[in-house]
Amino acid sequence: MKIFELLSSHGHERLAFHHDSATGLKAMIAIHSTVLGNALGGTRRWAYNDESEAIRDVLRLSEGMTYKSAAADLPMGGAKSVIIARGGQHANEAEARAMGRFVDTFGGTYIAAEDVGVNTQYCDWMALETPHIMGGETVSHGGDPSPYTSLGCFNGMKACLKHLGRKVDFSGLTVAIQGVGATGFKLAKLCKDAGAKIKATDVNKSALDRAVKELGVEAIEDGAALLTAKCDILAPCALGGVLDHPAIERLQCQIVCGTANNQLLHPNDDGMHLKVRNILYGPDFVVNAGGLIRLAGLHLGMSEAEIDRKVEAIEQTTLTVLKEAAHAPSAHDAAVAYAKRRIESGRANKRAVTAG
Ligand code: NAD
Repeated sequence: MKIFELLSSHGHERLAFHHDSATGLKAMIAIHSTVLGNALGGTRRWAYNDESEAIRDVLRLSEGMTYKSAAADLPMGGAKSVIIARGGQHANEAEARAMGRFVDTFGGTYIAAEDVGVNTQYCDWMALETPHIMGGETVSHGGDPSPYTSLGCFNGMKACLKHLGRKVDFSGLTVAIQGVGATGFKLAKLCKDAGAKIKATDVNKSALDRAVKELGVEAIEDGAALLTAKCDILAPCALGGVLDHPAIERLQCQIVCGTANNQLLHPNDDGMHLKVRNILYGPDFVVNAGGLIRLAGLHLGMSEAEIDRKVEAIEQTTLTVLKEAAHAPSAHDAAVAYAKRRIESGRANKRAVTAG
């Protein structure tokens, strides 16, 4: 694997490796960009098949964070960290504290948070070793960001409706939600409270039962059937990569707008395919930035009102990106171009300050 080629091909700044012999921790931190500021990004703890898979993941995810922060107009860059979990080894305090010490070596350039395999307890343990953590529960570092992610996505849905010239009225709409966990459940509630009919699926039966009991959603036990369900809005709120060529071919929705990261398996091709099929796509990293806005906002010392305004602004940003998508290969491409423009203007401002 040619690591420097990988770094330079997507403009990454740093990739750091760490091994802690006392706990066996094997971790990496990738900083994609600090052009707009220090970089906040979650820590993923995953049983990767091999090291190269972990390297590719941390590079891909950190680049995504750069675009998400830039599109959300945050003065922050993009980074991510991964922990290579060993089979059968449970997350524990000693490992988390070792990870916290690794994060601390970045002196605040990198700020860690929750991600897959890392919960608020793990963040609290990391925070025993470094102040550069967000998302922990007891250290009052912002707590659970999911309500903000769901609200931001709901705002993205409104933008999609507006873009199509439809009334922003959820009564009479059918929203199909894949995954009713932390973000999907809250998104289902927002849509339901606004008058929508909800169809939902989840591989976790108790999560689906709860959504049926508490929100009265129509349960679709067969996950594949949910993706092909006739609906106005399909909201992927579980895994990444759910939309590939065959899946897109079978969609029966007008809009795709959900909280999941990296919904398109092949972002360029699948983005274009959605456009060809005349299905409007609310780009994932634009519409799911609410949680990041919350954590970054608190970290940057923003007031609750400022944070709320930024989560609300997701609607306008989505509208702008969708408008620009008319002249781009896809909504995904338009969103990346939008984020890159913000980064380039940040770079130009930095140069001007240095020159002055
Ligand atoms: P979660 O784990 O709380 O919920 C995910 C749910 O999806 C779970 O109930 C799980 O059982 C279900 N699920 C998993 N695989 C499934 C499948 N194949 N079909 C149907 N259901 C399935 O996670 P979350 O925090 O709600 O995050 C969901 C997605 O949103 C992830 O992609 C995450 O990266 C992204 N995201 C979350 C946040 C946040 O604030 N939590 C922010 C930005 C993006």
